[in-house]
Amino acid sequence: MDSRHQRIVFLGPPACGKGTQVSMLAARSGLPTVVTGEMLRRSAAAGTPTGLAAKEYMDRGDLVPDSVLNRLVSETLEDPAYAGGFILDGYPRTVDQAKFLTGYLQERQTPLTDVVAIEVPHDMLVRRQAGRLICKSCGRVYNRHYLPPPSEGRCACGGELYQRADDSEEVIRTRLEVYRTNTAPLLAYFRRQGVLREVDGSGVPQRVQESILAVLDRGGGPA
Ligand SMILES: [Zn+2]
Repeated sequence: MDSRHQRIVFLGPPACGKGTQVSMLAARSGLPTVVTGEMLRRSAAAGTPTGLAAKEYMDRGDLVPDSVLNRLVSETLEDPAYAGGFILDGYPRTVDQAKFLTGYLQERQTPLTDVVAIEVPHDMLVRRQAGRLICKSCGRVYNRHYLPPPSEGRCACGGELYQRADDSEEVIRTRLEVYRTNTAPLLAYFRRQGVLREVDGSGVPQRVQESILAVLDRGGGPA
């Protein structure tokens, strides 16, 4: 894949493997990543005016409003490190944010080239998350279905395994419904822009990565 001047956004529901795919693609393509959580922490630590404004909301436990987040993303992307392309993970999350990003990039004549949406059936996402077991001693994460611990209820280190309260099936289903409701308009927006690339995320990570590389190669050209 020719990664020059690719400006990519990644979208996907919780536990779809998005973080892994972004890391794999970044390593392979050399494209720098902008992960929203990291960007917020870094700008707050650096003490930029926008970073400090964002920190005020986060310290109160509030969502950072679009106006602040948009400014933060545009300030970040002005760094020459991103001039040759980038991968965005965790932004945009709303149509308003997507409109801002699209306008901002078009103004700079560096439009978004691809929006990779990782699709995984809900039942599989529920199984992935509801099966999670975490070690009380070392924090290692197992999965009842995909990565079972060496012995029932015990980590390799001997620690006791537990399930997080928000990993219950009901909580996960609600989380997925909320995601789907919020994201549907965003997908429709990018589909209209002609940049949406839907990828089946139900396979093993290597297989999913191959699908992503294939759609990125096709991106912009005839489908
Ligand atoms: Zn352990």
